[in-house]
Amino acid sequence: MPISTQALEAAHLLDRIERLARAGEHDDRLNPAQWEALRYLARANRFSRTPAALADYLGSTRGTVSRTVASLEEKGNVSRDPSARDGRSVALALTPRGEQTLKRDPLLAMARDIELAMGADVENLLDGLRRTLRQAIARNDGRPFGACRSCRHFRGNARPSSRQPHYCALLDEPLSDADSQAICVEQEPAAA
Ligand code: SF4
Repeated sequence: MPISTQALEAAHLLDRIERLARAGEHDDRLNPAQWEALRYLARANRFSRTPAALADYLGSTRGTVSRTVASLEEKGNVSRDPSARDGRSVALALTPRGEQTLKRDPLLAMARDIELAMGADVENLLDGLRRTLRQAIARNDGRPFGACRSCRHFRGNARPSSRQPHYCALLDEPLSDADSQAICVEQEPAAA
């Protein structure tokens, strides 16, 4: 299928924006991979904060991710503990210092640029970007890492009086409102 000049220009723009978004990522003694790992840990649910899921999300090798996590641990941004669900696995978490570091995330400047440029049209931009991302993930045979509430296994308000009112039918686990917003390694999009 021939590619339109508009689609090609959009790809060039995304490439340029991506590079500009990374400006400043070498400040704060962190490198781009370390920033990406921190952002992932801030957004992922408790089933997904593992080195293996992080490697899948970043499209990286386990060895590279292990070095990234070790460096973040040394700097006090990330903790690593045995997983409560699977004793053979490791659970990663942001430390309070990691949460503070993310308040200086260089990506926030790009979020401000988007707000200024798009205003109320930001929903249209999001829709187009989400569809583009889905296409790119399918082409690369990757996992979607979508939000829990849009998963086909999500059962909203299954237990309305509970502090964890939602339910995961795949993992047989209760889910809070915050869980429902998080991204998940097991997420499978619900049929449109
Ligand atoms: S409902 Fe889906 S996205 Fe949510 S925890 Fe279960 S598998 Fe993950």
